[in-house]
Amino acid sequence: MANVNYEVQLKALAAMSNRYGADSEYVLAGGGNTSFKSTDRLWVKGSGTALATIKPEDFVVLERALLDKMWTKAYPESEAERESAVLADMMAARVEGETRRPSVETLLHNLFPQQFILHVHPAIVNGLTCSAEGEAAMARLFPEAVWVPACKPGYILAIDCKQRMDVYKAETGKDCTLLFLENHGIFFAGDSVEELDVLAAQVMNTLKSTVKRHPMIDEIEYDREKVVKIAAELSVLYGNGAAVKFTVNPEILAYDPATKSLSPDHIVYAKAKQLALTEEANIKGAFDAFEVENGYKPKIVFVKDMGMFACGMTAKEAETALVVMQDAIKVVAYAESFGGVSPMPEFLIDFIVNWEVESYRSKVSLSK
Ligand SMILES: [Zn+2]
Repeated sequence: MANVNYEVQLKALAAMSNRYGADSEYVLAGGGNTSFKSTDRLWVKGSGTALATIKPEDFVVLERALLDKMWTKAYPESEAERESAVLADMMAARVEGETRRPSVETLLHNLFPQQFILHVHPAIVNGLTCSAEGEAAMARLFPEAVWVPACKPGYILAIDCKQRMDVYKAETGKDCTLLFLENHGIFFAGDSVEELDVLAAQVMNTLKSTVKRHPMIDEIEYDREKVVKIAAELSVLYGNGAAVKFTVNPEILAYDPATKSLSPDHIVYAKAKQLALTEEANIKGAFDAFEVENGYKPKIVFVKDMGMFACGMTAKEAETALVVMQDAIKVVAYAESFGGVSPMPEFLIDFIVNWEVESYRSKVSLSK
């Protein structure tokens, strides 16, 4: 492969990816993606690869001209047909011999003219993107950024971003470097890693000094005996030998378990709905009723005045669900500073629940 010419840049891309990927302020559960581009080619994170450990040779290589063609191609009206045609074209845009699957957000990476792209879903950023006054707050805090309303991921989102970025360029004469995606996350763009680092730090620092309060997520005391007992019961209910994790902090105790999903990642790793129990409740009855109603077992179980349990078939799966749900709870706290939380619209939640591509990512990422 013609990586040879870009060895230095790909090393810088991998190092940058590892740095942000290992920083929990930016990345959770293998989420987020990065890319580097030359005039002809795009090197983008593969679907299911983790930023924290990605190596220069791990990036999926695509022909940019073939990706560009996708903007003007007429795709089927039907959603399922369209997205499978788009996926097929994306796979066909890979350089010869490339076998890995590129990130589902590949089109967005190709959209930016800048060489280095970082796309992440930090809790503090999503405090803004998942809030009632997010768009207005963004315009005030980051006048050079572009806002993209929540919409279905995949081709429709990519086209919407393209149109908004084109308008920005026509109006300002500049290429957009910051894209805020409602109920999703953020794209940073720069022509060097240094440029990108400055931009990311500036956004994070501005948000940190703007929010009225930071979430209180230090674990607090709990009744170990009761927790162990409930964890054992949940382990049996979730499945033979399921792993169950527990944590509690002031933010969890104050959280409303009926809050709707905030972003795609929250649904992928913690499911669209969570089970809420009172301590005295018949756990088995509530657990079984939840499964009947939703078609899946709860990964997250809130017990009133006690805390939050997370279930998974492996310790990693349970831990990931716990961490991602904790992230959603942090987002709710941050969103207070921007007029309160604004969850995803119901149609989008349903769409993500059924989204094949995301479930692929969840499977691959968790199998590592
Ligand atoms: Zn994303």
